[in-house]
Amino acid sequence: MDEYESNLPPIPSHLQKADRAISTLVAKKPLTLETARGRRKLAPPFAQARYDTALHESAHLVAACACYDSCIYSVVVEPTGKGAPRYPGTAPAVLGTTGSAELYCDQEAFVSLAGYYWSKSFGGEINAEGDLHRAKRELRWGKMPEDDLVVHTSANAFVIDHEPLIRAAAGAVVALAASNGELTGPKLHQLVAWIRRRVTRLESRFDHSRARQARDYVRRLGMGKF
Ligand SMILES: [Zn+2]
Repeated sequence: MDEYESNLPPIPSHLQKADRAISTLVAKKPLTLETARGRRKLAPPFAQARYDTALHESAHLVAACACYDSCIYSVVVEPTGKGAPRYPGTAPAVLGTTGSAELYCDQEAFVSLAGYYWSKSFGGEINAEGDLHRAKRELRWGKMPEDDLVVHTSANAFVIDHEPLIRAAAGAVVALAASNGELTGPKLHQLVAWIRRRVTRLESRFDHSRARQARDYVRRLGMGKF
């Protein structure tokens, strides 16, 4: 049994069946170069690209799941240059996207950086510079540059700590995605619930610290609690 399958929090009975189904899927269909070929039986170079993309997007996905207030609405793993759709806001070379929205800007940066640090630590032919730029933009909103290092460090540590879960989720993404490479709707929601049960929850760091500062300030002014 993998480490992420032990000491799990309880779940409501109506979700147990879906949770077990994903566990079975993960055990039976791990991500390999063969499963990455998909229904279209891609040639090896494309299968390798799809394999790398699935892992990279899974790093974003698992990181987004760690932010409990996030909304995750799509994961796309699209393998080929030929006929591949261009998604709004992405360069043609981008082979996958993970659509999620986090509540706090440091969490947004964290989710972007999870992809960046995954590719840095575990390789693959993914250009993750876009993730780095997005993270920088989000961190600028936070206006607390001394905390940027905390977000970078936690994203890097997160992908290393969660490597088995990220690999497991990548297998599930490839197995559950439609033939156009998209994973959305109930299947995605079930996978998200499965990951959330196994991931280490990440609290927003600097927005919470700012909220605390604001509370302390208000108390000092004698305006009571809020
Ligand atoms: Zn990315």
